[in-house]
Amino acid sequence: MHPFSYSRPASLAEAVALLAERGPDARVLAGGTDLIIRLRDESMAPGLVIDVKRIPELAPGIRVDGDCLIIGATTVMTDIAAHPVVRRDLAALADAAAVVGSVQIRNRATIGGNLCNASPAADTAPALLVHGAIAVAAGPDGVRRIPVDELFVRSGVTTLVRGELVTAVEVPLPADRIASVHQRRTRRRGHDLASVTLACGVDRAGVARIAYGSVGPRPLLRLDATGVLADPGASDEAKAAIFETIFADASPSARSMRAGPDYRLAMLRVLGRRALAAALGRLAAGE
Ligand SMILES: Cc1cc2nc3c(=O)[nH]c(=O)nc-3n(C[C@H](O)[C@H](O)[C@H](O)COP(=O)(O)OP(=O)(O)OC[C@H]3O[C@@H](n4cnc5c(N)ncnc54)[C@H](O)[C@@H]3O)c2cc1C
Repeated sequence: MHPFSYSRPASLAEAVALLAERGPDARVLAGGTDLIIRLRDESMAPGLVIDVKRIPELAPGIRVDGDCLIIGATTVMTDIAAHPVVRRDLAALADAAAVVGSVQIRNRATIGGNLCNASPAADTAPALLVHGAIAVAAGPDGVRRIPVDELFVRSGVTTLVRGELVTAVEVPLPADRIASVHQRRTRRRGHDLASVTLACGVDRAGVARIAYGSVGPRPLLRLDATGVLADPGASDEAKAAIFETIFADASPSARSMRAGPDYRLAMLRVLGRRALAAALGRLAAGE
């Protein structure tokens, strides 16, 4: 492993100052389930690793604040999957957090790390996109609230600027709730990232939201405001036509070791149909 210095600041200001000073030579460490692997295989070789788990603003915790749910950046998947408000109002996020890696990984893996690693296969990303989540970022110029859809660029690259880190994720809890579901495909053996990851949300106004990942450089969010997908009476042909538009920008790599492009594109359609049916079921059941 390439040698590096380790810092564990107790304040946000100190962490921001270190990140601003060192730029790309510094990396944030949260749960370490992505970063430690990258340090070991030397695909990342920062001179400074900044452990953010002592910073109060990033502390783990989930709380309702007005019409938002605030999730601290270092909250782990186990706690997200078990939280009663997440399970009731953001079901796709609970579903997604519950399938990340293994028990051991879920006890370490944070929501901030899942977003900032910016893997196209990040399992919480589609659910956060469907629910209109916002990443709260602190940096040298203060606090920015970045819609998650504007955070991803490509694998490992976000729109965070030098000196910024994510302190929390805010998810709106609208009065007209969104019934949502997360689905994914993985290889059958071992704990692996998804070959396809997808979330679907529907509301009573008839808007369907589909977000999907692992089929291109970044997760994508698409909306169907025509009402066709959310209409239980619409024909399969009409729904298939909308799905074709929604999935038009999927561009899976031919070089991936996980699955070929044809398989991923076929599974995207299967998961889309399944997730839509399940989300409509949850909406009808008032879940
Ligand atoms: C065996 C295994 C299985 C896995 N399975 C899955 C899976 O099924 N689904 C899935 O989505 N992921 C999976 N992962 C990936 C990983 O567990 C998740 O992405 C996890 O959420 C990362 O969180 P972390 O806290 O461990 O991040 P870290 O490793 O600490 O950090 C990841 C990256 O984000 C940056 N970062 C972390 N926190 C912040 C912050 N607050 N602000 C700015 N930058 C930050 C770090 O600098 C680093 O570049 C798996 C990993 C392993 C090893």
